[in-house]
Amino acid sequence: MKLHNWIAGKAAAPSAGEYLDNVDPKTGDVCGQIPRSNADDVNAAVAAAKAAPLLSVLERSELLTAVADALAARIPQLAELEALDTGKTLAATTAGDIPRAIDNLRYYAAAVRSDSTSCNQMEDGLNYTLRQPLGPVALITPWNFPLHLFTWKVAPAIAMGNAVVAKPSELTPSTATVCAEVFSEVGAPSGLLNVVHGLGHEAGAPLTVHPDIKAVSFTGGTVTGKAIAGVAAPLLKKVSLELGGKNPSVVFADCDLDAAAAGVARAAFFNTGQVCLCGSRLIVERCIHDEFVQRLQQQIERGDWTPGKSMGSLISWQHREKVASYVELAKEEGGTVVCGGNRVGPPKSAFFQPTILTGLPIDCRVATEEIFGPIVSVHPFDSEDEAIAMANFVEYGLASSVWTSDLTKAHRCAARIESGMVWINTWNKRDFRVPFGGMKQSGVGREGGRYSMEFFSQDRNVCIQL
Ligand code: NAD
Repeated sequence: MKLHNWIAGKAAAPSAGEYLDNVDPKTGDVCGQIPRSNADDVNAAVAAAKAAPLLSVLERSELLTAVADALAARIPQLAELEALDTGKTLAATTAGDIPRAIDNLRYYAAAVRSDSTSCNQMEDGLNYTLRQPLGPVALITPWNFPLHLFTWKVAPAIAMGNAVVAKPSELTPSTATVCAEVFSEVGAPSGLLNVVHGLGHEAGAPLTVHPDIKAVSFTGGTVTGKAIAGVAAPLLKKVSLELGGKNPSVVFADCDLDAAAAGVARAAFFNTGQVCLCGSRLIVERCIHDEFVQRLQQQIERGDWTPGKSMGSLISWQHREKVASYVELAKEEGGTVVCGGNRVGPPKSAFFQPTILTGLPIDCRVATEEIFGPIVSVHPFDSEDEAIAMANFVEYGLASSVWTSDLTKAHRCAARIESGMVWINTWNKRDFRVPFGGMKQSGVGREGGRYSMEFFSQDRNVCIQL
């Protein structure tokens, strides 16, 4: 399968004629090729975006709905492509990733129709606010939820009247390409949605500094986010950064143990631990430490998180090497591997066992660096203050979960843990309307609901003398 860029409403080969291999992480085999784009391709895509006509609110809403309907008719194809690119199970992409990506389009198709601005009356004057598009915007996305994170940005950007140049991850290019084709199929004007594939420093970097790009919405690693902020901020582009995490699951002895064990395992191992929101640090009250670890282990043993069956692979064998190196590091740092810790499957595949580590200090590298794999380190605490201090110890501040039957304690913790999102007795429960984003090194800005709509627009006040 040879993919193409999508520029000005049609397929475009990369200007240099070069391609990158797309690799199936379940086997390590090459399964296709993607354009290795450069600044020339970016320039062509931005020029197309700049020339795209502005649609009315109703037209944008109807377009997003039509795209959602067309994608819904292709769920099996999209789910297969997403599973091939990412190594996820087909069950996960069919029931989770793709429907969720389609919901993003439906949500913003509806939300833009009820968007309103304010009117502020004075004794002798009247103010009203115009909400206007920014112009061409750059959307740069990672590989862990390819189509979901693509439409999570494309939908509000287009709903608010902007044309888009998107740069999906080079590791997961397929579904974004289909989505762009579908936009054209259902009648999107030429240049409204452009997709440029390629490596970050070759295709992403020129996009972030292009003079006609008015805003950059980025989801990915903290190091990349800082590099983008470093070049885009001096150009005064609007920048939204959704970055990494090292999130705590804080478990008190008074919690519902069954619910907490299931929730904490999900937080640790869902998507093979490759979720920015993953609870990769389990901070658990000392008196239930051993029992809780046992409960996690039981779920693994009964097959809830079995690589190749109930759990997909990692994104690549190279990433698997990184994840495996953290298990070795954990041993050097004094930790115990309670279960897992090994590569499984064919040599060039990316399967890795769900892994529980105990006995590690809270300040060691394994407990402070984002691993992005199915590894959870367990740390006992004796008091609420100690639990909060441990939760806040890392430089990240994206998400957290607190497990307790004492609601007062839960509210106290929610206000004290430094993270943009706190779940109480649940994990990763999502509502389109709520602010999504991180504190500290986990990012700048919020996405979701009106937050994305505000990011992808600019308000202009008009004041009339009465
Ligand atoms: P990454 O930072 O390596 O790449 C993300 C995207 O940026 C890719 O499309 C890449 O090609 C592009 N890129 C790389 N260098 C660039 C540059 N200099 N200029 C412009 N673009 C560039 O991240 P990844 O490995 O694809 O994804 C994993 C990371 O994403 C993890 O750290 C994870 O926590 C984070 N993430 C965060 C969220 C969130 O909402 N906070 C969601 C998902 C993933």
